[in-house]
Amino acid sequence: MSTPRPHIVVMKFGGTSVEDSAAILRTASIVTSRLKKTLSPIVVVSAMSKVTDTLLAAAAAAGRNDREAALKLSDSLRTRHLNAAAELTSGDRLTSLQFNIHNDFDTLDDLLRGISAVGELTSRTSDNVVSFGERLSSVLVSAAFAEHGIASAHVDARTVILTDHHYGKAAPNEPATESALTAQVLPIVDLGKVPVMGGFIGSCDGITTTLGRGGSDYTAAIVGGGLHAGAIEIWTDVDGIMTTDPRIVPEALRVKTISFEEAAELAYFGAKVLHPATILPAVQKNIPVFVLNSRNSGNEGTKITATPPPCASPFKSIAAKKKLTIIDIVASRMLLAHGFLAAVFEIFDKHHCAIDMVSTSEVSISITVDSREALPAICAELSTIADVKYESNKALICLVGEDIRGQAGISGQVFSSISHVNVRMISQGASEINMSFMINEEDVDEAVRSLHKKFFSAPDATIFDVSAAAQTDDRAVTSNA
Ligand code: ASP
Ligand code: MG
Repeated sequence: MSTPRPHIVVMKFGGTSVEDSAAILRTASIVTSRLKKTLSPIVVVSAMSKVTDTLLAAAAAAGRNDREAALKLSDSLRTRHLNAAAELTSGDRLTSLQFNIHNDFDTLDDLLRGISAVGELTSRTSDNVVSFGERLSSVLVSAAFAEHGIASAHVDARTVILTDHHYGKAAPNEPATESALTAQVLPIVDLGKVPVMGGFIGSCDGITTTLGRGGSDYTAAIVGGGLHAGAIEIWTDVDGIMTTDPRIVPEALRVKTISFEEAAELAYFGAKVLHPATILPAVQKNIPVFVLNSRNSGNEGTKITATPPPCASPFKSIAAKKKLTIIDIVASRMLLAHGFLAAVFEIFDKHHCAIDMVSTSEVSISITVDSREALPAICAELSTIADVKYESNKALICLVGEDIRGQAGISGQVFSSISHVNVRMISQGASEINMSFMINEEDVDEAVRSLHKKFFSAPDATIFDVSAAAQTDDRAVTSNA
């Protein structure tokens, strides 16, 4: 077990927190506030907002031989980065930053020309193209920090996040990454400087890889876990985890503290704040993860930890996931034959279709999925072993809370508060910390409002931010970026 370094705080800033010069300046002042607390920040940044999408579009255009379209997209990004550079830095620092930016875009353009010449885009080349987003944002942010009085040092994330060669979704090699972080990032921290690196990207034997969409959070957790930091801060554009979506329930409250398991359930069921797997390296070392709003930096956000205090209310949050399909599968032979379930799951697996929820009876099985593309193929294959029907436009409501464990009568309270809504499938996960059920998409808002009213009318002030109940307007919610 490595030695904890409680003074280190890994601060990850998402795309909206570095989207333009104003956002980058806010980021600089947030980092300064941590330095004033004598903490040692390590900064991980996403690409500027929408840059990853644009790079992927450029790569795709090049892959279709559309060189002009690809280069045009690259050009728009070049201008955007140069503008931000000019707004954030000056003199020699600006000159060298401009040189850097032009250099990167010249390389990118060569790459795009190459792809369109062959008219073929491999996942390896796609990773190379998309990596420019974080390569550029990290250089830009590091220079902006230096200009604004933060002693910073840029670290090329590809030299420290060492992965396998699964392009598009590479897995880190933890021991190798930990040694690289210790050898290259720690000395910068020890010198009193702030390392700034891109999230999302890594390398395998010197070839650029990426960790998968949204991977910058994962980078932050890998860095925090690898160096055994005291805390990981995920700076985004929401106030943290809320009792439910404030667009549906304006009175939704911030959840001050939540367990890793609860946060993982919520993320899985659609709360777009954090992807569950991304915090795993933090969970393993019991490092608290804070979700914070860079537009409202005085707010305490949500602390995700192994041991939150007990909560008087059974639930911490209600999530809703729309656009689901329920597939009813009835075994052709009267009873579920031995091996039937395995055969069913194998078909889903083969089509890379993740299953959200399963419920079984003696002769049938109902499965919920969120992808529609693979459905026709899956159903065709299923119909060789069963009768299959499916219904779309369903939604999953999920109530999460560790304190439902052992509380009798909770499901009665849940369903009586939404007795007017038609409920299709019910499941209480094996983890015993979530209760979920399916309803029609059009009933979601109404059901969530009724449930919120039932369970959060008298919130426990140790867990929920009751003081913020009045100021709902600055809780703008967009997806996590
Ligand atoms: N820029 C990458 C993406 O948009 C990674 C991230 O922002 O976390 O998916
Ligand atoms: Mg993200």
